[in-house]
Amino acid sequence: MMDSFDRLHGLPDGFFDISCETIRSLFPNPSLVQIDGADRRVLFVSILLHGNECTGLQAMQQLLAKYRDGLPRSLLLFVGNVRAAEANLRYLPEQVDYNRCWPGTHLESSPTSQMMQRITEIVHGLEPFAAVDIHNNTGKNPHYACITDPVPVNQNLAARFNRVAMVFHHPGVSTMAFDGICPAITLECGLPGSPAGISHAVRFVDDLLNLDQLPARAPTRNELHLVESHLSLMVRDDISVAFDLEADADLRFVPDFEDRNFTLFDPHEVFGYTRVARPLLITDSDDHDVTDEIMRVEDGRIFLNNTMMPAMITRDQLVIRQDCLCHLLQDYLPYHDTEL
Ligand SMILES: [Zn+2]
Repeated sequence: MMDSFDRLHGLPDGFFDISCETIRSLFPNPSLVQIDGADRRVLFVSILLHGNECTGLQAMQQLLAKYRDGLPRSLLLFVGNVRAAEANLRYLPEQVDYNRCWPGTHLESSPTSQMMQRITEIVHGLEPFAAVDIHNNTGKNPHYACITDPVPVNQNLAARFNRVAMVFHHPGVSTMAFDGICPAITLECGLPGSPAGISHAVRFVDDLLNLDQLPARAPTRNELHLVESHLSLMVRDDISVAFDLEADADLRFVPDFEDRNFTLFDPHEVFGYTRVARPLLITDSDDHDVTDEIMRVEDGRIFLNNTMMPAMITRDQLVIRQDCLCHLLQDYLPYHDTEL
């Protein structure tokens, strides 16, 4: 049986007063809220697919407060994982990740994936103008957009958010589900609740509410630096790590290593320091060990073999153990997309 969701026409009273913690007082279930505007080509916006990423709600509150007297374009707002939002968690232990179960997912069918299937069908039936999914991430990262299909119109959409954007392929994310249906984008708005991230999302969505047409022209290299993420960098088990060069640890990084997110490391710049031969494990998107291809250790210093950018660096020891230390980004090369 499909997870139930509510459909509302018009914004419910009290929308501007709720927070993530109190969201279920207004939205006890996931909800699809349709608000008619002057231009009927509807903009689809999803928020809170991850319950602890509250910027989407705050941005939509700010934006809709501006248009209390009427929207320039119809809006279909999907308020996603309200139960996780209430608990300030990405998703609850008994739930599936709400941004991994959209059409195209490799996860087995579930009541939640059936709900996402239904939502996608509803949006598709409205011939949407574009689909925007608003997220946050951890650590010091610039705001950036993610697209799953780097067609010119999506690149153009990404360049409206920031000059750097990422191409990613993760079956089951909402943005991928809308490829082929309408221009689609994920916004990564920095840390949850950061005022700069909220206002950036507001400006972006406001722009789309007022835009007559999305240009089909691809941005130039100056307008958009398109990168892709295929590599995850993990610390091997039993290797101690510190963000202090003087620390007694197997692997050491500079204290402000997080500031290096989205900055280039060339093959001659020290990436980190180590007293063991193989402190790190680097895997590609197929989970192959590509460590020796990507990095080298010389006299206790770690270097990358090609110019790359780390992203989503975490200093959190638990996240380092459970997930990864960071991802490594490369310039987007279209041939990586070819399905062989
Ligand atoms: Zn997210």
